[in-house]
Amino acid sequence: MKNEIKITSLRARSVNVPLEYPVKTAVGTVATSPLVLIDLLTDAGVTGRAYVFTYTPLALKPVQRMVEELGTVVVGMPLAPYAIDQALQSRFRLIGNTGLVRMATAGIDMAAWDALARACDLPLVELLGGKARPLRAYDSHSMDGVALGRERAKAAAEQGFTAIKTKIGYPTLEEDIAVVRAIRAAVGSDVQILVDYNQGLTVPEAIRRGRALEQEGIAWIEEPTLQHDYQGHAAVRAAMNVPVQMGENWFGPEDMGKALAAQASDLCMPDLMKIGGVSGWLRASALAEQAALPMSSHIFQEFSAHLLAVTPTCHWLERMDLAGPVLEPPIEFKDGMAHFGQSAGAGIVWREDQVDRFAV
Ligand SMILES: [Mg+2]
Repeated sequence: MKNEIKITSLRARSVNVPLEYPVKTAVGTVATSPLVLIDLLTDAGVTGRAYVFTYTPLALKPVQRMVEELGTVVVGMPLAPYAIDQALQSRFRLIGNTGLVRMATAGIDMAAWDALARACDLPLVELLGGKARPLRAYDSHSMDGVALGRERAKAAAEQGFTAIKTKIGYPTLEEDIAVVRAIRAAVGSDVQILVDYNQGLTVPEAIRRGRALEQEGIAWIEEPTLQHDYQGHAAVRAAMNVPVQMGENWFGPEDMGKALAAQASDLCMPDLMKIGGVSGWLRASALAEQAALPMSSHIFQEFSAHLLAVTPTCHWLERMDLAGPVLEPPIEFKDGMAHFGQSAGAGIVWREDQVDRFAV
């Protein structure tokens, strides 16, 4: 490897890609996948690649523009992800490194780690000192109703998945239970069922529904109430015997620290982007180890696989494919396990014809 590699330029592009199934939740639907694709070019001839997911197309152009503006900070810097992260953190101390700013800085962080791994000709997991291994993955579904819920669950079980997640929070508890029972009937007793309320309930209603769902043998209940209400999550957690799961809305390890201090959750599932990219994830994984919390991923399955493999309390990889149409597949799901790490970096390679097709 060359002694000092420098970042020479940065490119950000917006795409809005179709989803096989819209992501329906109790609080809204994601119909397409708006992504900002980042290329970080270096003088070593390697390019780091990453994408960030903006949830709504409304945030696509502002995030793209923010990433482009960050180019003025990182171009010319040595390819040293820790130093880049520190520089970006200090730039945003006064405005607060959260929201769209954090999404953009995390994207740069991921691309920088990817570039460094490629420069060393190592899969990211090996750059981080680990080794790729098959990881347990759960298949992540939507608020699909009884018929589609059953169909998708059956298909996932046939593919070998040993856990599936469904989003609930229907108008009534009876409908929630009907969906869970339909899925149970389709997959049998050996497949774990995880449920996700996407913040849709009040605390008393979450306790009422959680106690009923306890009887259905679910393996976790995710974000039963507002994500920022750590005390509320702690109250729900104290009132039932199903593990509470949260973390996808923590902006930075600092939010995670507050949730842990409130004893809000039995499990954790930081989102790679919101937690602050690879650098943020590594700090979060230390917090999880300290608190003995099993740690799962949230979307971003390509990078997350590499990170979970070096996470001391590694739990589940979420299989939810938001970027598939614009990527050469870097990850393979077989018998409920994610297989990855065959190429350098995080293995992100754009399908340029598809990028053009879905460009915004
Ligand atoms: Mg969720």
